[in-house]
Amino acid sequence: QAKAAGRNNYQFYAERMSAAAARHFELETQLHGALARREFTLLFQPIVTTRERRTACLEVLLRWRHPQRGLVGPDEFIPIIEENGLIVPIGEWVIRHACEQAVAWRRAGVRAVPLAVNLSARQFMQRGLVESVRRILDDTGIDPAQLEFEITETALMQHGGATLETLAQLDCMGIRLSIDDFGTGYSSLAYLKRFPVHKMKIDRAFVRDLETSGEDQAIVAAIMALAGSLQLAAVAEGVENAAQLELLRRHGCDYAQGYLFARPLAADQVPLLLAREDGAAPAQAAAARPAA
Ligand code: C2E
Ligand code: MG
Ligand code: MG
Ligand code: MG
Repeated sequence: QAKAAGRNNYQFYAERMSAAAARHFELETQLHGALARREFTLLFQPIVTTRERRTACLEVLLRWRHPQRGLVGPDEFIPIIEENGLIVPIGEWVIRHACEQAVAWRRAGVRAVPLAVNLSARQFMQRGLVESVRRILDDTGIDPAQLEFEITETALMQHGGATLETLAQLDCMGIRLSIDDFGTGYSSLAYLKRFPVHKMKIDRAFVRDLETSGEDQAIVAAIMALAGSLQLAAVAEGVENAAQLELLRRHGCDYAQGYLFARPLAADQVPLLLAREDGAAPAQAAAARPAA
């Protein structure tokens, strides 16, 4: 009987595997034409100051409008396009489209807020990256100070020396860099000190249980100390409630991002949000000030 159960489990597993493989194959095939069919779109999520809860930056988040499946998130398709190389043209489209959007907002009189674009490991290691970014800056006329890149700690630490060269060139162009998902990889402190980076984004994993986990509080305190001594700004990811925000403030974290403030927004919602903040800024700041 155990044997039969084992075989059933195996069969179940095999079916599940082939379903996953079939899905992977289907998505991979469809991804090839997705850019030309204009199926990608960008969402923008505010990164706010923890004191005034005012938008300081917008993270650019890629979505795939799949004709049958609806909106597909990057966790489902970035691994596929990293593997087949499509990340290079699609990633370039993201940078270009984000810059065009920033310039359009600027022309419409929207308050200038930097846009933070995610770069994956393969994009970052690609030879033509710096050239392609330079061309996009030229073509769109965006102020480089309005563009930031985010790269995960793991991707950043993978390639040591080659990385430094690319970072230095982007830095020279005036583009700021954040280390994404900080705390989930293994950083060499020697590299951290040498790399021209400006921000650390504390991974959501350390924020989620912050109120109840002394361990996570200790980790956040340690990251804040490191950020302080390296003179980097710190951003907490995945802030979903007021208790987390209060603890982060107490640890000296100046910026936060998460559903507590806003979900990723469609482009047409951004001007409304910024206008609302500007109109309501003094009242909000007063309300957010601690009593003591
Ligand atoms: P990330 O850069 O760490 O982005 C933050 C992710 O956390 C986003 O997921 C965002 O929607 C989500 N998030 C924000 N606030 C909260 C919150 O309060 N609670 C929870 N549970 N989640 C929150 P998303 O948009 O699904 O993106 C996932 C990852 O895909 C990103 O992680 C980034 O690594 C990657 N990615 C997104 N867009 C691009 C892109 O254009 N290019 C590349 N190479 N990677 C991208
Ligand atoms: Mg990011
Ligand atoms: Mg992150
Ligand atoms: Mg993440």
